[in-house]
Amino acid sequence: MIKLAAIDLDGTLLNSKSEISKENAEAIKRAGDKGIEVIIATGRAHFDVIEIFRDSSLKPWVIGANGATIHDPQGNLFHSVPIGREKAEGILEWLEQQEFYYEVFSEKAIYTPQSGRELLEIEMDRLVSANPEVSLKDLQLAASKQYSQSGFAFVDSFKSIPEHAEIYNILAFSFNEKKRLNGWNQFKDTEGLTIVTSAHHNFELEHESASKGIALGKLAEKLGIPLKETAAIGDSMNDESMLLVAGKSFAVGNARNEIKKISQTICGTNDENGVAQMLNSL
Ligand code: CA
Repeated sequence: MIKLAAIDLDGTLLNSKSEISKENAEAIKRAGDKGIEVIIATGRAHFDVIEIFRDSSLKPWVIGANGATIHDPQGNLFHSVPIGREKAEGILEWLEQQEFYYEVFSEKAIYTPQSGRELLEIEMDRLVSANPEVSLKDLQLAASKQYSQSGFAFVDSFKSIPEHAEIYNILAFSFNEKKRLNGWNQFKDTEGLTIVTSAHHNFELEHESASKGIALGKLAEKLGIPLKETAAIGDSMNDESMLLVAGKSFAVGNARNEIKKISQTICGTNDENGVAQMLNSL
């Protein structure tokens, strides 16, 4: 019997318009009425998730920043695993040298360089002029999705990020595949760090003890629910860790192939209320 369902947001619960459909919202409500604790597990910052749920009666536990934070339904921080300051500064210095657009997730804000959006504009122009088959509109959509998060604080450099800010997650975003790969290779073997990707154009860095899977374990323990009585659903590589530990694993129909391969059940896409299908089956 499943007592906890962990749901990814982007590409999973949110449809392609970044909305929660009526069907999905109703299914979450019904699952709650049946005694299933429905929780959110996302790469997004907690305050950003709160904005998304602002008009909803749902008040879930939130695993945020790819597992670096866990907040209770009242918004209190229950658990966090920040990246050490020195390590974070080393990463950010490199990203700035390589002219990456980046975002630094902390408790109150997402710090991002003032020049970042301009850098992405330049990348878009270059990519489209070298590859006429690439759709500028798709790139602009991906960028605007990135910018639609709440809580941005613009800084001239990482050096302006307040000393006291805990850094949970560093997201690097580029339309240039070579540049992205170069970034991935730069950090993939760094001791003490986890690297994942949550969408086509990014990679994200966290403390090695931060992942959706580890956070799901922590939260299930807190709620007194064995992992075999949990279920999880997602679409991207940052969901892999929780799909591997959950008792039942689901992929939405639009999930990456690697994610479909490790999931026990494949549901409809995020535009076909795949989450409602999952919840209704529990
Ligand atoms: Ca996702």
